[in-house]
Amino acid sequence: MSELFRKLPSMDAVLGRVEKEQDLASLPRNMLKDLVNTFLDLCREEIRSGIITREDALDLKNLWPRLRIFIKVQARPHFRRVINATGVVIHTNLGRSILTEEASRAVTSACLHYSNLEFSLQTGQRGSRYSHVEDLLCRISGAESGLVVNNNAAAVLLTLDTLVKTREVIVSRGQLVEIGGSFRIPDVMAKSGARLREVGATNRTHLKDYEQAIGPETGALLKVHTSNYRIIGFFKEVSLADLVKLGQEHGLPVIEDMGSGNFFDFQAHGFSFMPEPTVQQVVRDGAAVVCFSGDKLLGGPQAGIILGSKQYIDRIKKNPLNRAMRIDKMTLAALEATLRLYLDPELARQKVPTLRMITMGEKELKNKAQRLKNRIRRHLGGQVRSKVFPAYSRVGGGAFPEQDLPTYLVGLEFSSLTCDEIRTALLRTDPPMVGRVEEDFFCLDPRTIDDSEFTMVVAALKEALQEVDDR
Ligand SMILES: *Cc1c(COP(=O)(O)O)cnc(C)c1O
Repeated sequence: MSELFRKLPSMDAVLGRVEKEQDLASLPRNMLKDLVNTFLDLCREEIRSGIITREDALDLKNLWPRLRIFIKVQARPHFRRVINATGVVIHTNLGRSILTEEASRAVTSACLHYSNLEFSLQTGQRGSRYSHVEDLLCRISGAESGLVVNNNAAAVLLTLDTLVKTREVIVSRGQLVEIGGSFRIPDVMAKSGARLREVGATNRTHLKDYEQAIGPETGALLKVHTSNYRIIGFFKEVSLADLVKLGQEHGLPVIEDMGSGNFFDFQAHGFSFMPEPTVQQVVRDGAAVVCFSGDKLLGGPQAGIILGSKQYIDRIKKNPLNRAMRIDKMTLAALEATLRLYLDPELARQKVPTLRMITMGEKELKNKAQRLKNRIRRHLGGQVRSKVFPAYSRVGGGAFPEQDLPTYLVGLEFSSLTCDEIRTALLRTDPPMVGRVEEDFFCLDPRTIDDSEFTMVVAALKEALQEVDDR
C-alpha cells in the first residue's frame, strides 16, 4: 500500500499537465492547488479502502480524465445559469424576471464603459442618476413624479419613513401579508417607525373602519396588494377610489403597495382572466404614492419604483435614507432599456420575456411541448417514456396568485430511475435544470424554456442519466 501512495503524481506534475489545457490553466492558482490536493486526498482514501489496487491506475495519464472533470465541476462559479422548466414565470428563487436583449446590452455597456450616470450632458455639471428613468416612468404611468430605489421593500420603507414617520398609518388587517422567505410586510413597515393601525377583520374591511380609525395621529392610509394569497367567499375590501376620497376629506395621502405593478394591461389585450389594475389605473384613481417591484410583472431588473404626486415624491427624494437604498448603474441601464419598450405596449409584450411567457397561447405551448418531446425521444430513445398533457403554469412572484395559466407539459418517465432520482441528478448537470413532478412524471413546462435551450435540455437529461449510471 505504501508503494501505491508513493506512486501518486506530485503537485508539480499535475500543475504541469493543467498548463496544457487553456480553460483550466486560467483558473486562480490557489484554487487549482486546493482542488488538486482534495483530489489526491480522494485517491489516498481509495487506496486505503482498496478501491485503487494497481500502480498503473495512478499514472497521471490514467488519472487525468477523472481529475480534469473533477477540477471543472468543482471550479464552477457558485452563482450560475439554471434552466427553468417549472413553468413559474416570475420564479423568485430562480432570479425572478429574465431581461430583454436590449436591457442586457445596456447593462454590458454600463459595466464596461464610463457613463453620464450623474453627469448632465446639457450643462457639463453634476446631474441626477434618477433623470435617466423618471421621464419615462411618468410618461408611461401618467404620474407627476417618480424615483427608483433598490427594491420594493425599500420603496415601502422609504415612503412610510418620509410621509408617516412616527405617526400612524391605517391598513386593513387582511392586507398584512408575508411574502415568502418568512418576510413580512408589516415588519418592514414597522422599521420605518410608523405605527401600523390595523382595521377591519381578516376577511372584511369597510370604509367606515378606516374612517373611525382616523385621528390626530394619522399620517396616511395604506393599501397593500395581497400578493400571494386570495380570500374568496365572504370578503370585502375598500376600493382605492373610495380610500382616496376619504383621504381627501381628511387631508391624508393614500399609499398603495402594488407589489407586482404592471404597466401592461392584460385585460385590454384579451387576457380577461387576469383582472388586476395597472399602475396607470392606480395613478388615475388618485393614489398619492404607488410603489412596486421592477423584477416582477414589469419584467425588468430588481428595483423598487415609487410614483406619485410631486409634493410627496419631492419629499421622498430628499429623505437621507434614499441614499442608502439607491440603485446602481447596471440596474438603471437595464430599467431604462426595459421601460422604453413600454412606450409601445405591443412591443413590450413581444420583447419583454416575462410578458411574452405569460401571454403565450395554448396552441403555441402545445406545439412547443410536442417539439421538445420529439427532440428528447430522438436523443434518449428507449431510456424514457414521454407524453404531452394539459396542465397549468403559474405567473409567480406574488402576481395573480390564483391564476392558472393553461399549458402543456412534457412528462418524462425513466426506466432506470425514479422521479426523485432524476430531479436530484438534474441539479448537478451543467447547466442544472429545475422541473416539477406531476402525476408521477418528471415534467418540463415549455412556457419558461426558450427554444434556444432545447439542446441544453436534452444534454442535461443525458448528463443526468449518465451520472446515475456511473454510480
Ligand atoms: C414582492 C412584494 C414586496 C417586496 O418587493 P421586493 O421588490 O421583493 O422588495 C412588497 N410588497 C408586496 C405586496 C409584494 O408583493
